Amino acid sequence: MDLNRAIEELLKDRGAIKVGFANKDSLAGGPPSTDLDYVFNAADIAQEARSAVSFALPLDQDAIRQFIAKKDQHAHTADNRRTIAKSIRLSNEVAELLRNEGYAALGTDANSTYRQEVPLWHRFLPPDISHRYIAVAAGVASFGWSGNVGLPGYGSTIILGTTVTSAELETTDPMPEEENFCEWAKSGGRVDCKLCVESCVVEMFEKNDAEYVTLGDNTYTYSRRRNTNRCVFGCGGNTGLHKSGKWSTWSPGRYKLPDDPIKLNRELRRSTAQRQEHPPVTPAATCGMCQLVCFGDKKENAKNFKLLSKSGCAVQEPDGTLVILSAEEAAEKLRTMPQEHSALYS
Ligand code: SF4
Ligand code: SF4
Repeated sequence: MDLNRAIEELLKDRGAIKVGFANKDSLAGGPPSTDLDYVFNAADIAQEARSAVSFALPLDQDAIRQFIAKKDQHAHTADNRRTIAKSIRLSNEVAELLRNEGYAALGTDANSTYRQEVPLWHRFLPPDISHRYIAVAAGVASFGWSGNVGLPGYGSTIILGTTVTSAELETTDPMPEEENFCEWAKSGGRVDCKLCVESCVVEMFEKNDAEYVTLGDNTYTYSRRRNTNRCVFGCGGNTGLHKSGKWSTWSPGRYKLPDDPIKLNRELRRSTAQRQEHPPVTPAATCGMCQLVCFGDKKENAKNFKLLSKSGCAVQEPDGTLVILSAEEAAEKLRTMPQEHSALYS
C-alpha cells in the first residue's frame, strides 16, 4: 500500500472525517506559520521537512448546542479537550508510521507551542505551525468569513491535526469553492450571513473588511481581525457580556473594550488582575462562539445564533457558583451583591 493511502486509512479508522496532504509548493507564499522546516529545526532534526499530513476530527454538536444555549458548560469543554488530545495523539501515530518507513516525522501540538524567539510573542502567540493554513492548502477544510476553517456538514465545529515529515507525499487539491461550508464564501460574497461576527461579544471581526492569505496558487479571503487581544479578552474568559447587555458567553465579566490598542491592553491587564480575586471555579471553556455557531448549514446556524442571543447572562455568586439569568435579573443580582464582589467583573 502506498504511504498516502496507509496514512489516510489509519486516520479514517480512528475517526478523522477528512485527510489531506500539503507540501512546500502548495504552501508557497504563506505566512511564517506555514514553514514546515521550522518544526524540524525546533526539534533539531537536520533533514528537510517536505510534506505535511492534515486531518479533521468532528466535535459533538449536541454538546455544542447545550454550551451555546448556556445549559451545560462542561460537556462541550470535555469533548473539546478530548478531541484536541486525540488530534495530538493521532498526529504522533502518523509520525510513528512514517518513522517506521524510514522517514523523519513529528506530530504537532494543538495551539500550545509558540515561536518564543518572535518579539512580543506572548502577546501575539505566533504558533510553531498553523493547522488551519495546512488544512486549507491540503483541501481538508476551507476558510469561512470568520477565518475559522470548516467542512460541509460540519461547519467550523472541527479540530485539526498536523504531522510534518521528510517524506515526499502526493499532495491533495484545495477544496473547490462550491464545496465551501460558509454561506458567504460559497456565494462569492453575495449571501451576507456573518453570524460568526455577530456571535463575538468582543467584536473581534470586521463585518465588511477582509484580509488575505496566499497558499500556493490560491489567495483566500476572510474577515480582518480588529485586534487579536480582543479574543484574548473574550475567549480567555475575562469578559462575556454582549454590548446589547442582553446575553453573554459563559464568562461573568462585563468589561467595555476600548478601541485604542494601548488602552485595550491596559484594560486586559486590569481585568486579568481582577480575575485573580474571583472565587475559584473548575476551569472550563467560556467562548469559542465564532467557531461553534457555524454548523455549515444556514438554518442550523440561525438556530444556533438564536439560542446564543437568547441564552441570558452569566453572573458569579460570591461563593463561586455561576448562575445564568435574564439581563434584568442579572443586573438586579449584581446590584444586591456586596459591592466589593460585584466590582470585580467590570
Ligand atoms: S457563520 Fe456564516 S459567514 Fe460565518 S463562517 Fe459560518 S456561514 Fe460563513
Ligand atoms: S473565540 Fe470568542 S472572543 Fe475569540 S474571536 Fe471567537 S467569539 Fe470572539
